[in-house]
Amino acid sequence: MDINKLIKPNIRSLRAYQAEEIPCRIKLDANESPYSAISGQLSALSRENLQALNRYPDPHATSLRYLMAKALKVKPQNILHGNGSDELIYNLIMAFGGPVLYPVPTFSMYGVISQALGERKIEVPLDNQFDLDTDAFMKTIKTRDPKLIFLSSPNNPTGNCFSEDRILKIIRQSKGLVVVDEAYQQFSDKRSFIPLIKKYENLVVLRTLSKIGLAGLRLGFMISGPEIVNEVNKVRLPFNVNSLSQKVAEAALQDKRQMRSDIRLVISERKRLFKEMVKLDGVKPYPSDANFIFFKVDNGDSIHSGLIRKGVLIRNMKGAADGGLRVTVGAPAENAAFLKALKQIL
Ligand SMILES: *Cc1c(COP(=O)(O)O)cnc(C)c1O
Repeated sequence: MDINKLIKPNIRSLRAYQAEEIPCRIKLDANESPYSAISGQLSALSRENLQALNRYPDPHATSLRYLMAKALKVKPQNILHGNGSDELIYNLIMAFGGPVLYPVPTFSMYGVISQALGERKIEVPLDNQFDLDTDAFMKTIKTRDPKLIFLSSPNNPTGNCFSEDRILKIIRQSKGLVVVDEAYQQFSDKRSFIPLIKKYENLVVLRTLSKIGLAGLRLGFMISGPEIVNEVNKVRLPFNVNSLSQKVAEAALQDKRQMRSDIRLVISERKRLFKEMVKLDGVKPYPSDANFIFFKVDNGDSIHSGLIRKGVLIRNMKGAADGGLRVTVGAPAENAAFLKALKQIL
């Protein structure tokens, strides 16, 4: 049997997501939090919760969505829960289809999922400040009429927020949905777009718990008008978020003090790390509104592999930019170890 002939051509040419599983002492490659948001809340997982595992989870994640709505100052009917925000990106593209427009470099899943679902994708380069090239966007919106536009702000991997007025211009111009992916919003001092869902019918905002200490739970949220929630909800698999993740997230959201102070720690470490990186000859770090720093060096590959040899794993972003690397802000000792190793290699 020839599997190659059976498989859809758009899947055949796709490459599976390569999460680097290089075992390293210090892991600064995936933008996770160095701190678990769950310390002190382990009692949330009672014997009762575990004994209820013979039952399916709440398909609507009712109490979790209620708590999230309260935290974000919207209504529960403005919220849809995903098994990570990756799944919501998948559901959005499944429900609305393409063309799918996004700037590059950005989060790879917008392109990967579009291709997996056989939808057309349109990539527009960012300008030399890593901001949105509004002229190119306006032209593309006019000529190609994208059904979906994905804007990661703060942007992964460049770390910056896009200018608010440029995002607004795109929202106003687009006849399709504009998805502002706020995976890193809590690390930024710029405003969230969530309050604007009342004003703009075509605005969708994505949030995730993955970057603020709960990546292992796999929980993301889509925030939009109820009509969009209802449509995307039709393609969501009924029990997409398991009951343990629902319970643990509920506990974490009921007491957000730990999460907030962890975020503050990461922000202050980011500032310290940036100052140290600026001092290094041959290293060009870019200002960041997120929990990672994008930087350029002359020979990205050799710095990346040199760091691995010293037990420090960061992300090679050569696909995004020549000599582009991305380091996640870790705990103070991890950042110190990264800096020390980087200096030695340079
Ligand atoms: C990490 C990341 C996500 C994925 O989040 P999950 O909730 O873990 O699926 C989404 N968008 C961007 C821009 C990210 O960097």
